[in-house]
Amino acid sequence: MKFLRRITLNQELITAAFIGIIVFVGAASWYGYARLASLSRQVAELHAELASSTAFLQSNISEATTSLGNALQEEKKNVQAQLGGVKDQVGSISGTVTGLEKLSKIDPELLAKYSKVFFLSDNYAPARLVGIPDEYKYSENKPLQIIPEVLPFLRDMLDEAKEDAVALYVDSAYRSFDTQEALKGQYTVTYGAGTANQFSADQGYSEHQLGTTIDLITLGIGGQLDGFDRTPAYSWVLENAYRYGFVLSYPKNNGYYIFEPWHWRFVGVKLAADLHESGKHFYTMDQRAIDAYLISLFD
Ligand SMILES: [Zn+2]
Repeated sequence: MKFLRRITLNQELITAAFIGIIVFVGAASWYGYARLASLSRQVAELHAELASSTAFLQSNISEATTSLGNALQEEKKNVQAQLGGVKDQVGSISGTVTGLEKLSKIDPELLAKYSKVFFLSDNYAPARLVGIPDEYKYSENKPLQIIPEVLPFLRDMLDEAKEDAVALYVDSAYRSFDTQEALKGQYTVTYGAGTANQFSADQGYSEHQLGTTIDLITLGIGGQLDGFDRTPAYSWVLENAYRYGFVLSYPKNNGYYIFEPWHWRFVGVKLAADLHESGKHFYTMDQRAIDAYLISLFD
């Protein structure tokens, strides 16, 4: 019996131990599971947190990129606008430089007004002179010179007069100070001092010294300048000369000098056309207004 009881006891013990083990394993498993579940939950939370942080960061980066892009675009526009401004300035400066260079090659005396009290220096002479071809001269034996820039305008004018069957010739062109002095002396002898002063000691003297001024003559008036205003040639010049840049320096009733219908000065097509259109005369125009035409003198 004792033996049986021991067995029974042992069995109870074993059973108890067994149950204990099961309980322990179960508890351990449950604990493990619970712990695992908790860890897994934490991992999931971390993951979600990470995902949200990543999204937040991504959105921030995207915003930053957008605003950086906008800022760069804005800056690019500013730089381009500034560059455009600089380019405009460079363009206008280079335009001014070109204009100044052009202007520096044109003698300002060529558009200066000369009067009884203000005329060219005795020593003034044009930089260059060319001979006027014989076909345009009244007297082939008389050498006539003009500055080279004016010759094409003169040729065109006389060629067109010829096409219109108008006999128009050059009688006088460039005259040096010395020639003028000699001429004045000649007139003094012929007409007497009073007439010579009126006829020759004139604005025209300076203008001839420039090499841009001519005295025109036609057939049928005995080789004289006087009477030119009563010829068809004069009417033609009065109507057309401005298109070739020539103006009448001393028109009828001009109030500052005697009428010289034969005496024509080259002042450039633009100025001559503007004077013609406005009905004004070179000598009644303000010198500063005239000077604005210097740059376009030979255009
Ligand atoms: Zn003259």
